[in-house]
Amino acid sequence: EVLADQIAAGEVIERPASIVKELVENSVDAHSRQIDIIVENSGFDSIRIIDDGDGIESDDVFTAFKRHATSKISSRQDLFKVASLGFRGEALPSIASVSDVTMITSNGTDSGTEINIRGGEIIKHSVAAVRQGTDIFMKDLFFNTPARLKYLKSPQTELAQITDIVDRLALGNPDVAITFTHNQHEILRTAGNGNLQQVIAAIYGISNARQMVYFENEDADFRVTGYTSLPAVTRASRQYITILINRRYIRNYQLTRSIIQGYGSKLMVGRYPISVINIELDPILVDVNVHPAKREVRISKEDQLGQLIATALQESIAQENL
Ligand code: ADP
Ligand code: MG
Repeated sequence: EVLADQIAAGEVIERPASIVKELVENSVDAHSRQIDIIVENSGFDSIRIIDDGDGIESDDVFTAFKRHATSKISSRQDLFKVASLGFRGEALPSIASVSDVTMITSNGTDSGTEINIRGGEIIKHSVAAVRQGTDIFMKDLFFNTPARLKYLKSPQTELAQITDIVDRLALGNPDVAITFTHNQHEILRTAGNGNLQQVIAAIYGISNARQMVYFENEDADFRVTGYTSLPAVTRASRQYITILINRRYIRNYQLTRSIIQGYGSKLMVGRYPISVINIELDPILVDVNVHPAKREVRISKEDQLGQLIATALQESIAQENL
């Protein structure tokens, strides 16, 4: 069992940032309103996520750490349904098989649970306080898989990866109050009031709200909404473009091109806008044959969607320049 979990962990848990992603997505799935992410030494020392979500019933805690035990989803197609970001029931067992995890969780009514699993072995299991939500603390990442530890990059690079994933999670969940603290320094704090523009401001330091324009467009298959920067407000990298499908952050080259295309000749060569785009679609239109953990997805009717996006941006930007 532990070995199988470790092998699965090889796919799901590549680095500290993947742990942050999986744990925060679990907190989102559990309807949390507040999620605090506390990282020490780029995750090499520890990662702690505290949420005020549904918590896990004491009877279900063991199951949560068993592989494929999730009841969230029945098929991979469901992955892109709004309701749930988790899909395979692999994250918790994977993380617990390659690190030391302590979880304190309660649904607020029954007695809570504290469980400590190290390298897949249950070290401690006891009754805990009744604060509703989940507090999960991970340390000693890859202590029992030294080869994997060696593959990690420098603390700066790993921190950049964590920061990037936290940013995308915050952009995808403006209605959740998120804090991110690294080595006691607060890196990000969002209000959780649903205001995407404020989240963009917090992340990219855009002080003047008018530097971003709102856009929306829809047809029979897609609805796109979001904010994009005015042609003068650009960056030297396309990583400031965030594409979300049903709130899940994805990467897609053609859609990124469509966003850029929306600017026509207004964008200098080598410059990219800051954009956050939410695409709502029927999950049936997402090609699930591409590995979901890689975040590269293909979409049916991609040309049609790309055109919808380009037109939306074009019109909003033109309007702003009147
Ligand atoms: P998945 O998210 O694919 O279901 P995970 O391994 O990530 O699988 O989590 C296993 C299960 O543990 C989840 O389905 C959920 O029931 C429970 N769980 C994990 N994290 C939390 C959390 N923060 N709050 C409430 N329940 C959680
Ligand atoms: Mg999950």
